Amino acid sequence: MPPVGMHGGAFHGRGRFLTEEEKVAQPRVTRDLLVRIGSQLRPYWRQLLLALVCVCLSSVLALYPSILTGRIIDEGLIAGDVSALVRLICLSFGVTLAANLIGVLESWLNAWISQHVTFDLRNRMFRHLERMPQRFFTSTSQGDIITRMTSDIDGVESIIANTFTSILSNGITLAAAIAAMMRKDVTMAAVGMLVIPLFVIPTRRAGKTRWSLTREAQDCNDRINGILGETLSVSGQLLVKLFGREDYEYGRYVEENRKMISWHIRERMAGRWFRVALSTFSNIGPMLIYLAGGILLARGGTSLTVGDISVLVLLLGKMYGPVNQLLNIQVDWIRSMALFSRIFGYLDMPVGIEDAPDAVPVPGACEEAVTFEHVSFSYEKDKPVLRDVSFSLPRGKSVAIVGPSGAGKSTIVSLLPRLYDVSAGSVRVNGVDVRKLRLESLRARIGIVTQDTYLFNGTIRDNLLYARPDASEEDLVSACRKANIYDMISRLPEGFDTLVGNRGLELSGGERQRISIARVLLRDPEVLIFDEATSSLDSISEEAIQQAIAPLVRTRTSILIAHRLSTILAADEILVVSGGRIVQRGTHRELLAAGGVYAELYRTQFGRTEAA
Ligand code: ATP
Repeated sequence: MPPVGMHGGAFHGRGRFLTEEEKVAQPRVTRDLLVRIGSQLRPYWRQLLLALVCVCLSSVLALYPSILTGRIIDEGLIAGDVSALVRLICLSFGVTLAANLIGVLESWLNAWISQHVTFDLRNRMFRHLERMPQRFFTSTSQGDIITRMTSDIDGVESIIANTFTSILSNGITLAAAIAAMMRKDVTMAAVGMLVIPLFVIPTRRAGKTRWSLTREAQDCNDRINGILGETLSVSGQLLVKLFGREDYEYGRYVEENRKMISWHIRERMAGRWFRVALSTFSNIGPMLIYLAGGILLARGGTSLTVGDISVLVLLLGKMYGPVNQLLNIQVDWIRSMALFSRIFGYLDMPVGIEDAPDAVPVPGACEEAVTFEHVSFSYEKDKPVLRDVSFSLPRGKSVAIVGPSGAGKSTIVSLLPRLYDVSAGSVRVNGVDVRKLRLESLRARIGIVTQDTYLFNGTIRDNLLYARPDASEEDLVSACRKANIYDMISRLPEGFDTLVGNRGLELSGGERQRISIARVLLRDPEVLIFDEATSSLDSISEEAIQQAIAPLVRTRTSILIAHRLSTILAADEILVVSGGRIVQRGTHRELLAAGGVYAELYRTQFGRTEAA
């Protein structure tokens, strides 16, 4: 895993998936998007159906006590019938209880469905990310990926558990309340609902404001996460300390934090004004019903009773909540759609490098283990990094690649296990183009010791077994002996069971390299690639690594990216790379005699390491 860069893509990377324009314009809700969201829910259609029935039942039942209240007033209070009164009160109580019990089942179903949908989504996302090309991980900030995997998916969970249910239950309550009011009296219902359109105007404004505030707060949050990720990571902290930038970073953090609170306060206040308007409007409706009802009753000639008027007022009261929530849900809805489109955007990113349909396993040994033929490559369009690179490596031989920093040495070897694919030309392993080989088989044959050796938190044994989980104790010992690290491990009180990584024993750069050499050797690869660390090691560590590498190079097909003379001398042939081309090749002696890039490198770089 690459360390989080201090000024990596934390701010820029995200734009790739939700551009500024998209953020402002809000996500487009297309039929395809809705169908796709539906397809996430399809496996759980039985539970969904049950949840739907529960929502319908509980919403309708919740209205029933209001209707009963009318009868309580007319048949119980006004008629003075105590037994009817008790019966109606008990019925009302029973209905409320039933509605609430159904509500419990509904919540459980909601939680169950949303958890299962996100369980699937998380797993699919993880699988997809695992298959993403290396290019994706080098160009996307780690924080971005973690956000997608955590808060975005959590957001989806809340959408399914809350937003969708809320839309459904409020919609049903509203429809049922309107129907019940109409049944009582169409004119009075119309009078009560007169004010509802007045809701729409402030809601639309408040919705827009809240959306833009939410977006600003979200951006601010991303920046805060960026600062945290950058300054609180191992390498980031080191940089902050070494350059004494604590105060600067603190200032940056406080500044963003301050903006954050201001956005949050404004977001909350935007809702506040809206609620003031709403409660004022919602008071007008019942008053209108009382007024109209009072006039009708006073005039006489109406079948309406006091109970009916009370029912109408109560039902109207039950409508405002859902109307308010449905109008307010706009922001949640937009955010939900944005989340879904972002997650689908991730899932739709092409995997890039995968098995061809007719891919075959790596064939048996052949004379030429590795062949590069007129290979050109670029990370970004029109910026070639490798140009017309050709060489071949016979079985059992070794080649050292040398060249100035940035010449393209690491890039050459990364093409072999298909971390990237060539732009032109071909890379062949045992005579077959790597693009025609099965990735798993190809990568099993190639062992790479990278410059930054990554050991995860765990014991040395765990780290070694990562390469081959079924390796025996003897295999571990033998690999560690070959990597010249066994003596050091056996001196540790807990041996192979010593914890390493962030929370364990601090290993020196050289020790880490040798453990990672042992790890690669456990896989017993046909081709060994060793990307020598450019950072200087002390001469004892260097000697230890040399002792590990030299015998391996003599017996295995190997490619060495060399920065030290001793490594270069261990190889059968030397390729000198400069500006993405092979500019010289030969043995140390030949190249020194020829002058040019190699002689220059020898003078400025290798000569020094030899002297050291
Ligand atoms: P060094 O000896 O310093 O490790 P190198 O010879 O191994 O250097 P490469 O790492 O292969 O050089 O890089 C070759 C060129 O490609 C450099 O200019 C580098 O900036 C660029 N490069 C490397 N990796 C990427 C990447 N993931 N995306 C874009 N450009 C890259």
